[in-house]
Amino acid sequence: MCGIVGYIGNKEAYPILIKGLKRLEYRGYDSAGIALIDGNMTIFKKAGKVNDLETIVDPDKIAATIGIGHTRWATHGEPNDRNAHPHLSNSGDLAIIHNGIIENYSSIKEELTKRGYKFHSDTDTEVLVNLIEEVQKTEKTTLDNAVRIALNEVVGAYAIVILNLKNPDQLVAARKGSPLVIGIGDDEFYIASDASPIIEYTKNVVYLDDQEYAVINRDGNYSIRTLGNVEKSHEIQKLEFSLELIEKGGFEHFMLKEIYEQPKAIEDSLRGRMSASQGWIKLGGLNEYINRIDNADRFIITACGTSWHSSLIGEYLIEDLARIPVEVEYASEFRYRNPIIKETDVVIAISQSGETADTLAAIDLAKDRQALIYGICNVIGSSIARASHAGSYTHAGPEIGVASTKAFSTQISIITLIALQIAVVKGTIPTSKFREILYELENISSKIEETLALDAQIKEIAAIYKDATNFLYLGRGYNFPVALEGALKLKEISYIHAEGYPAAEMKHGPIALIDENMPVVFLATNKSAYDKIVSNVQEVKARKGRIIAVVHKGDTQIRALADHIIEVPETEEILSPLITIVPLQLLAYHIAIMRGCNVDQPRNLAKSVTVE
Ligand code: GLU
Repeated sequence: MCGIVGYIGNKEAYPILIKGLKRLEYRGYDSAGIALIDGNMTIFKKAGKVNDLETIVDPDKIAATIGIGHTRWATHGEPNDRNAHPHLSNSGDLAIIHNGIIENYSSIKEELTKRGYKFHSDTDTEVLVNLIEEVQKTEKTTLDNAVRIALNEVVGAYAIVILNLKNPDQLVAARKGSPLVIGIGDDEFYIASDASPIIEYTKNVVYLDDQEYAVINRDGNYSIRTLGNVEKSHEIQKLEFSLELIEKGGFEHFMLKEIYEQPKAIEDSLRGRMSASQGWIKLGGLNEYINRIDNADRFIITACGTSWHSSLIGEYLIEDLARIPVEVEYASEFRYRNPIIKETDVVIAISQSGETADTLAAIDLAKDRQALIYGICNVIGSSIARASHAGSYTHAGPEIGVASTKAFSTQISIITLIALQIAVVKGTIPTSKFREILYELENISSKIEETLALDAQIKEIAAIYKDATNFLYLGRGYNFPVALEGALKLKEISYIHAEGYPAAEMKHGPIALIDENMPVVFLATNKSAYDKIVSNVQEVKARKGRIIAVVHKGDTQIRALADHIIEVPETEEILSPLITIVPLQLLAYHIAIMRGCNVDQPRNLAKSVTVE
């Protein structure tokens, strides 16, 4: 959600900022802007894409070596040129870019207005930069100290970077709740919301922690302090991913590339963590707390969006294999509804970015109540990873497409390992079954490859239904959360209304919607309850619904009823989501493309939701 990039050094800043903003586009945004100091403060900003911003800039006329850039995801004020960042302070000396929300902006704005400040946008951000200016004036202090004092008065979440016309050799940045990473080059610094704009130039980075601010100087020095004014020194970390991973590598879209990367992503997430032939699972994070985890009274899994769907699969897996009760909670509800959390609970928090604001807040709440927190995230060093007692990275590699694909399947892989490891320790599954599942897991990538080979057939089905206005997705058992996820994918990128339901629940409402115009996607690979799902297919057929069914190879009964059959390889039922989700991702992708939608950056959506 929203992107921040900044540069100070001896190179020209403008091309670095524009390229950086393009690398951050995947996060989702509605306007973009940059500020540069080259004798004067120059600001360019525009609603729309980074390409639109480029049309109003003549790069030959800019030689600045310090600057900041922003992609905005509007929260306060509509997405127009005026509200785009950077925002200037009243004196024109300070330019700010901001990710997040200043919750108490309106009382601050009132006070500043009384003191004569004028506002030129509807944003909370412009209030913050003027508050900083006012503090600097009244306290007669340095910019960084004014930033610290001002942020102590502010309620909300932010990552900010500030340019100061009076000191063109310095950037000041701060964070609370939204990520910031500093890239350290040779006599130059980069700063960004994530490492993607930095990786091309340096692998050495420092992550700012919550409630910290940084002062970055052109002379090659930087310092970090807490908002409580305590000096900090962070270890320099090495970025592990390469540039190729954040480029499209021959695919037309990141989403398609990431769908196709799933076999490898799953292998990467399992590597070193299990061996089928030797019969072991070793999840580093789990081992340390295994006693507490085995003796947990209950698991609570909390997440948002796609991660909430993998959490539901986690519930089925952990209860099924490890026989420990599990509750799955939307983080946004959990944090505000005074839930019962006990010291003996284990709270698993799942988030691709590791920055999801509601999930982070849910962790804080559960930590206060002494629960053990286990984080599952993809982004190394992310806030959730750092806020958890223990955890596992999914190792899916950077996910750029806003609609999550490989993050979902690697999250499921990790939860499968968790459920199996606990089951083995507790003796809730026979060793022979444990072995069988491990072998199947080791093989799952080749079965996903086979499923990906159905792409052309799925594209044909997409062409038939691309103009539908509604879709229904139905599944039972492990395939029910897959139905939810399939519907979400379609909604997100093609803007077709879609709902996922447990197949049997259809009779309690959605069946009223079924007529000859309603495509119904059935996930019918279950061995258990197969007959039941056949009956559900019959019920849809009797009402002339159009049936697209995902079945096991060789299925005959549903083939006889369905309009379209997608035959996928058979696997252990508990692993089936890893396979059945693939055709649904491809179906959503092709329909969206045929409808002319921007699949990698769907409207209104952000990749990591860092505001509530
Ligand atoms: N709240 C700010 C605005 O609406 C920042 C939004 C963002 O994170 O991009 O302008």
